[in-house]
Amino acid sequence: MTQTPTTKTATADLAQLSALNLPALQGLMEAWMQPKFRAKQIYEWCNKGVLNPTLMKNIPELLRDRLASSLMCEPLRLIRRECSADGTRKYVFALNRPRLAGKMVEAVFIPEEKRGTVCISSQVGCVLDCPFCHTGTQGFEGNLSAGEIVAQILAIKADLRDEPMTDELHNSVTHIVYMGMGEPLANEEGVHGSLAILMDEDGLNLSRRRITVSTSGLTPQIERLGAVYPVNLAISLHSAIDEKRDVLVPINRKHPLQQLRDCLNAYPLATQRHITLEYVLLDGANDQADDLAALARFVNPEREWVNLIQFNPYPGSPYRGTAKENMNQFAQGLISKGIRATVRRSRGQDIMAACGQLKADTKEVS
Ligand code: SF4
Repeated sequence: MTQTPTTKTATADLAQLSALNLPALQGLMEAWMQPKFRAKQIYEWCNKGVLNPTLMKNIPELLRDRLASSLMCEPLRLIRRECSADGTRKYVFALNRPRLAGKMVEAVFIPEEKRGTVCISSQVGCVLDCPFCHTGTQGFEGNLSAGEIVAQILAIKADLRDEPMTDELHNSVTHIVYMGMGEPLANEEGVHGSLAILMDEDGLNLSRRRITVSTSGLTPQIERLGAVYPVNLAISLHSAIDEKRDVLVPINRKHPLQQLRDCLNAYPLATQRHITLEYVLLDGANDQADDLAALARFVNPEREWVNLIQFNPYPGSPYRGTAKENMNQFAQGLISKGIRATVRRSRGQDIMAACGQLKADTKEVS
């Protein structure tokens, strides 16, 4: 599917190279009176993860200098990379653009046998404040631009190329999940802009089936996403009882469960795809018999699967995770009602890269 490209980076001070698609680069080359093929060459470097013009070997030096002085070519700086015993890699980046300079965001690469998934951040901190979530405790500091979202993936691609994994795990980026720091659909400009670039047939060319946007349930934004970029959808559900979800996922007060239900029923799914309902099991808070019954009533088994997630504690968190055997029982309870439910194996827990653990532990670097 070809999407309307966007090159707008209104939140950035200089246009960001990683936010430019081929037509935009072609327009730039034309304006600079350069041959058209230069745009293709530059775009190929970008898609390989090379954003630094000095490394673009087939580009003349004068043009490289002009790129470097006219665009923000590297919107992120890699500050730290941590590797988990299970192969997961967590990357901490600092932003370069003036208003958010030095603010940190995180992305994670999760290698599996047949796929390599990058989990990206869409905001610095999060606009929402779910009380079980480590990112939520950071507060909100700003939306990432499309270029900054894409640059996380490009930096990880470059890192995997320069230092591939040595075991049997997948070495390249095949899937993208918007599940890192932030509520993606509270940053529609950055997320829609980045999707246009990820799905560009001349560029990274990732199909909608390989991209998942996770949201806490902003229903108008889900409708708009489905209308323009009908990628896979994951919902941070965490309770199917309004009174409880009002507390665990406070956006529920604005968009309660019935509204979410109607919205999910209308979401355009790709063939043989489903919506994932994410449910972090919290001891005593959402793992009781009435919680199970309400969840079973909420799920539309034809279109939705439940992903039960082990709670990853962080320092000062007010909740405890459900014991493993109780998680399995909860899953069995759903399965016995004809609902597909899995217990997600937590990856990268030893480096605080697992779900709900992402939070830049140093907020700023200079
Ligand atoms: S769970 Fe998601 S939406 Fe809620 S505070 Fe954390 S990052 Fe934000």
